[in-house]
Amino acid sequence: MKLGEIIPHEKTGMPNCEECGGTGIVLDEIVENSRTPGLSICLCVREHCFICPSSGKPPYLVYDAEVNRMLPCYCNQSRKLKAELERMILKANIPPKYQYKFLSSVDISGKDSLTLLAAHDWARDLAENYTRTGRIPQGMYLTGAPGTGKTLLACVILNELIFRYRINCRYAKITKDFLNALRDTYQKDSDSYGQEKNIEKEFNEVEVLVIDDFGVQKDTEWANAKLYDLIDARYERQKLTLLTSNQPLIDWKEKGVGRVYSRLYEMTKEIKLECPDYRLNHLK
Ligand SMILES: [Zn+2]
Ligand SMILES: [Zn+2]
Repeated sequence: MKLGEIIPHEKTGMPNCEECGGTGIVLDEIVENSRTPGLSICLCVREHCFICPSSGKPPYLVYDAEVNRMLPCYCNQSRKLKAELERMILKANIPPKYQYKFLSSVDISGKDSLTLLAAHDWARDLAENYTRTGRIPQGMYLTGAPGTGKTLLACVILNELIFRYRINCRYAKITKDFLNALRDTYQKDSDSYGQEKNIEKEFNEVEVLVIDDFGVQKDTEWANAKLYDLIDARYERQKLTLLTSNQPLIDWKEKGVGRVYSRLYEMTKEIKLECPDYRLNHLK
């Protein structure tokens, strides 16, 4: 896949290139000793960079004898961009198997499920038009049986938004990464003791949030209140929220999370994923 398709080329000011589309960065689908794809510097940049590969560290400068000064190496911009994208992917907490997966990493050819094609289209529209002025992006409530690719689709959107616009994103499994993280702050021996408000603030304010496995949490008054506060805060701030769940949204209407239901109903579009699975194209 050519990253030039999702990273605007004009920002790099580099000549176009068949491999990287002028970004200086390529996506390696297969990385030694890793199950996750990774980024590397394209040959079109490396062939002009003689100093940095040996040091491999920022700030990627080379000595210019003519001006008797250190100047940015040819690779400077590409290496910084690569480092920033890698940092943002890690900070977003995207599970390793879904890191660096994009709309084009998913095989939808030969699929005749209308819901699946609609979901893919909807994700594309969201990714391509996210920064269009005057548009408040609508969230998604992705529902479907286990294995239909809900988490993949949600993470594809995060990867796309990070690469296209350098937007801060966060992936969270509802119990492990959100509710348990808040509970930990009540434990005196925990590293996050007393940090509940900070964690809540981070989740309330992050530009794009994925809440994975909505509905598996225990239906307690405390959990429901925490969830309502989170969803309500994001609603007020008009922040994009994507949820995945094994159950349709309507199921929550009469339950403990009924208040959450009405907010989610307003701020998300419900998309049902059915078999055939929304799957990665392993041939790419
Ligand atoms: Zn290149
Ligand atoms: Zn260099």
